[in-house]
Amino acid sequence: MLTGMQIAVLGGDARQLEIIRKLTELDAKISLVGFEQLDHSFTGATKEKLDEINFSEIDAIVLPVPGTSNEGEVETIFSNEKIVLTEDILLQTPEHCTIYSGISNGFLDGIVSSSKRKLVQLFERDDVAIYNSIPTVEGTIMMAIQHTDFTIHGSNILVLGLGRVGMSVARTFHHLGAKIKVGARKSEHLARITEMGLTPFQLGDLEKEVKNCDICINTIPAPVVEAGVIAKMPSHTLIIDLASKPGGTDFRYAEKRGIKALLAPGLPGIVAPKTAGKILANVLCQLLTESTTNGKGNS
Ligand code: NAP
Repeated sequence: MLTGMQIAVLGGDARQLEIIRKLTELDAKISLVGFEQLDHSFTGATKEKLDEINFSEIDAIVLPVPGTSNEGEVETIFSNEKIVLTEDILLQTPEHCTIYSGISNGFLDGIVSSSKRKLVQLFERDDVAIYNSIPTVEGTIMMAIQHTDFTIHGSNILVLGLGRVGMSVARTFHHLGAKIKVGARKSEHLARITEMGLTPFQLGDLEKEVKNCDICINTIPAPVVEAGVIAKMPSHTLIIDLASKPGGTDFRYAEKRGIKALLAPGLPGIVAPKTAGKILANVLCQLLTESTTNGKGNS
């Protein structure tokens, strides 16, 4: 239980509603900033303006998945209010106050470190990334269906990268009957791909491997699907780039060659915001519960 804990939830999208629901179930006291257009109300949660919050009583601040912008602005879809997180706000919080977000950037890292608070990036955790790969794959299947005129079953699909997303993508498309080749650079990844019953190849051989590729799904956040690779693809190839912005594809060259290339960020929040919210809510509540068990200073 989170009885006695005061948490400020600043902005966000539908995923945040699952977090708020779970936090209130666990009896935390919640201040909601940037939710005034939300019709729903939660027992134990109060809608407030940023300047109405007494940050000296706040044990944790929950930010949306992207954290803040590089100017400190916090996105919210439930308000037109501009919410800006500053170092000054963090300095008003007790020393044990922990900030939770999905990812971070230079600005957020900077104000957290200069105010000597702790930031937890939920998307850096293996468990969150693996759970999150499930709605990511479902979104990828949706995009593959929407943007092709052939079945996934029987098609030649290249998956680039065997990380948390790449493994789930490769396995699921394999189960849908596609012929899967997976490109990786580590020998242990090539061994794992073989063990999974899929065809491995060295990333360095990508140019050779794309020759009969129907769909190329990239999960590597580095420039891998370069002009030389795109030049060797059949003209009907669909590129779905799942890697974080700016992706790993030369989109300019793909357009020039007439190859459809889609950057597809944030699929869990688009195709399954409820599930994506539950994934975050479960891990966040586990961390907050552990912090109350260990004493607030060890959160
Ligand atoms: P991950 O577990 O770290 O996997 C990344 C993979 O890329 C690993 O196989 C890694 O191989 C490889 N890689 C990284 N840099 C490389 C390079 N320079 N050259 C060759 N291979 C390289 O990450 P993840 O959780 O699978 O996420 C993959 C990407 O998808 C991230 O950018 C993430 O933000 C994004 N993502 C997108 C969505 C969406 O909705 N589109 C959802 C979730 C995640 P090594 O082990 O050899 O480094």
